[in-house]
Amino acid sequence: MASVKTVAVIGAGIMGRGIAHVAALGGYRTILEDILPASLHKAESEIRTNLDKGVELGKLEKSAADAAFSRIQLVGTVEEAAREADLVIEAVPEEMDSKIEIFTLLDKICRPATILASNTSSISITKIAAATRRPEMVIGMHFMNPVPVMKLVEIINGYATKKEVTETIVELSKQLGKVPCVVNDYPGFIANRILMPMINEAIYSLYEGVAGVEEIDTVMKLGMAHPMGPLALADFIGLDVCLAIMNVLHEGLGDAKYRPSPLLKKMVA
Ligand code: NAD
Repeated sequence: MASVKTVAVIGAGIMGRGIAHVAALGGYRTILEDILPASLHKAESEIRTNLDKGVELGKLEKSAADAAFSRIQLVGTVEEAAREADLVIEAVPEEMDSKIEIFTLLDKICRPATILASNTSSISITKIAAATRRPEMVIGMHFMNPVPVMKLVEIINGYATKKEVTETIVELSKQLGKVPCVVNDYPGFIANRILMPMINEAIYSLYEGVAGVEEIDTVMKLGMAHPMGPLALADFIGLDVCLAIMNVLHEGLGDAKYRPSPLLKKMVA
């Protein structure tokens, strides 16, 4: 199993900053990169606030929070972030072209032994891996939002992912305090193959006038013991992300039952 000491995170948005938070807390030197300086500044202050919240709630020693914060370095280029990394976790927006561009670049910059992971919600790990000359070193690490709180990491094996890479990522996820769950690379993996059609169906129900927003969310919260209604969850995830995932399911599985609701498309437009 490979030894990971330095983790680079590409993209400091909602997910990237959460991943950097848990990586630093797990004891890893963590390098967080974003093309937008404003995203990096927001990430830095949010990570500090969330670590301090952990201290206030008694979940974390102040010294551990300070040590984690000091392990995080912010940088503005992929080159600076990835050069010394043993593991790179990409968390840029859910667009195939952006992911391919980043992985092509990472393949050029990183050492051969560096593991390249994507936090994609639905894009094929096998396709992303094919943009590199090391598909056996590419894997999916699908964290859940908010990362510091949610226990699951869905680990996705691409067609060529090496067994040792999966083992390293399973152990590293445990080191981050998470519960890893290994699945294979098919559209939507497990989490979004099941969750997203439910959200899409909730949006269809609204679109067809079956019930209002409040009623739909209340039925699912009180009737099914979901902590959050599907429409509130859609907003929390981001409607653009929901639409992107429905498109991946629709195209990848070729079944009309995955067609995105016209209301979802309109709201994203
Ligand atoms: P986001 O829009 O909050 O953040 C993306 C960040 O990437 C932004 O700060 C942006 O400036 C930066 N970025 C864009 N292009 C870049 C580039 N070329 N190099 C470096 N940085 C770049 O998005 P997010 O919600 O954090 O989603 C990121 C990934 O995580 C997506 O693949 C998404 O599907 C996945 N994901 C999201 C959720 C969720 O609930 N939001 C949950 C699980 C997985």
